[in-house]
Amino acid sequence: MGVLADGMHLMHNRAIACGPFPMTTTSCPCGSGLAFDHCCGPLLAGARRAPTAEALMRSRYTAFALGNAAYLLETWHPKTRPEALELDDTPPLKWIGLQVRRHQITGEDRAEVEFVARCRIGGRAERLHESSRFVREDGRWFYVDGELAP
Ligand SMILES: [Zn+2]
Repeated sequence: MGVLADGMHLMHNRAIACGPFPMTTTSCPCGSGLAFDHCCGPLLAGARRAPTAEALMRSRYTAFALGNAAYLLETWHPKTRPEALELDDTPPLKWIGLQVRRHQITGEDRAEVEFVARCRIGGRAERLHESSRFVREDGRWFYVDGELAP
């Protein structure tokens, strides 16, 4: 076998050994501990609807983490939704963790989710502590608005 063929063979084996993990084994950015494909993945892909306000909140965090502005707009209630959403990435912003503190049903089709999201902005750690309001219309949960915790 020539040198080139040997090299190709080696590269091929390496690609199998350390190639990118399939998405199914990647843990979801929302920190649920589940694989992305069994958590926020199907919601972001439009294959599944969020069963609860908390699930929607988690999927919106994941959309922020992945820069999926379209999903954020889709899940925003039309009454409070901005016309466009630009996820400004300067200075570089990296979402690094989510903790859901409280999920409260406040009415038949209403819920509140309190969470702390952590991010890094240009190397500086920041946290966002918010209580978000959600409504359900035609079986679909929407984000309405949120209040920052003091
Ligand atoms: Zn998730």
